[in-house]
Amino acid sequence: MNATAANVLPVVGLEIHVELATQTKMFCRCRNRFGDPPNTNVCPVCIGMPGVLPVMNRKAVDLAMKVGLALNCTVPPLTKWDRKSYYYPDLPKNYQISQYDLPLTVNGYLEIPLAEGAAKSKKVRIRRAHLEEDAGKSIHDHPHHTSVDLNRAGVPLLEIVSEPDMNTMEEVMAYARSMQRLVRWLGASEANMQMGHMRFEPNINLHITAQDGRTVQTPIVEVKNLNSFRAMERTVAYEIQRQLEAWRADPDGYTMDKLGKQNRGFDDARGVTVFQREKEEAHDYRYFPEPDLVPVEVDQAWQAATRATIGELPLARRARYMAEYGLTFKEADALTQDAPTGELLDSAVAAGAEARRCVNLLLSRGAALANERDCTIAEVGITVEALAELAKMLSDGRINATAAAKVFDLTVQTHQSPSAIAQEQGLLTVRDTSAIEQWVEAAIATNPQAVADVKEGGKKQKKAFGFLMGQVMQMSGGAAAPADVQRLLQQKLGG
Ligand SMILES: [Zn+2]
Repeated sequence: MNATAANVLPVVGLEIHVELATQTKMFCRCRNRFGDPPNTNVCPVCIGMPGVLPVMNRKAVDLAMKVGLALNCTVPPLTKWDRKSYYYPDLPKNYQISQYDLPLTVNGYLEIPLAEGAAKSKKVRIRRAHLEEDAGKSIHDHPHHTSVDLNRAGVPLLEIVSEPDMNTMEEVMAYARSMQRLVRWLGASEANMQMGHMRFEPNINLHITAQDGRTVQTPIVEVKNLNSFRAMERTVAYEIQRQLEAWRADPDGYTMDKLGKQNRGFDDARGVTVFQREKEEAHDYRYFPEPDLVPVEVDQAWQAATRATIGELPLARRARYMAEYGLTFKEADALTQDAPTGELLDSAVAAGAEARRCVNLLLSRGAALANERDCTIAEVGITVEALAELAKMLSDGRINATAAAKVFDLTVQTHQSPSAIAQEQGLLTVRDTSAIEQWVEAAIATNPQAVADVKEGGKKQKKAFGFLMGQVMQMSGGAAAPADVQRLLQQKLGG
């Protein structure tokens, strides 16, 4: 018998693992760096030799706390380390140091933007964000054996656990992208998906109201280790559909009450999730306090010092740009994708440039170059001084928009000042009326038909006038001030 649902509400929570951008690992002094030859950043501590002692990396705790505070979490006065049983070759000491019952930060929220342009948002609650060490990597590229690279073993990992507050795909993706932007913004992680800096583990189930009014929940499915936004999007979409079909086929059996939680894996090639096992409960991991590390006391001074490093967060800055600089939502959003791009704008404005001119430059050539190079606008390499100077040249009418675009590219390439480049390239606006007058006369002399069309009036007049303007601009090499050309042309044509 196939059941019909009157109402289906997807319920999604997300665990996000973020590798922190520290110089060294969580409990030893090995380098924390992606891409080095296998097993070169290892020592007796992170490969789990007996008799060695871990030492906490305070910088990792600072960064984790910074993220927690930016997520509006509470930092309890005492936090401790626990051992979590873990039997895989990528962590040879057979346990992972993590945090169980006293995590570093708890009970916060992340505000996520919804419905682009409408400036709508939703608060997704954060249950906890705790620190642990990453495992190494098993490499399955050999036909007869698996090799293990332990460079990643012991890298500080922040696990951010949300409440199951997301009900649509849009919310899930907005939450994940906002988290990526936030940890990058705070300098806590590069959050590069290809390098595995950020991994997702969604928990998905459906709250179904059947047509007879009964409400049921499908089993909560946790999908492990998704390493791209695309994989997560496909996984969540697939699970919503799969669970609905599974419940329809067996409305009394396919429920949370009967089956409990489950782990599934995502098969990228086939685009499906595959059952792995019943989800383990905490007692399966046999957590117990890590005997080799003392608990961490976080006093008010430490917390305050960390809070002071946070600064203005993306949504607050976006709102300020709309209020202070009169930007549209879209413009303000584009300029707050990363922290340095906004800082570039703010500094140029502080140096006396007009905000609107700076924004136009950053969102035209800046964004185009960033797109070509697959980097942020700030990473294109325009300096505050060059941006401010170019904006001022535009405000003063010393350069037109077309020339400014050219100068923008050249100043990025050569690091010369915009005024020097404009001078050298002959891109400064010609305000010398006698020069423009000569071009105007030449244009009139060589285009009698257009002149006649203008004088005659009628429907060809506008087009003919535009044509003559174009001729003069061309003769000036684009350097004449269009307002001057228009005025002189009108005079000469007997306006
Ligand atoms: Zn080490």
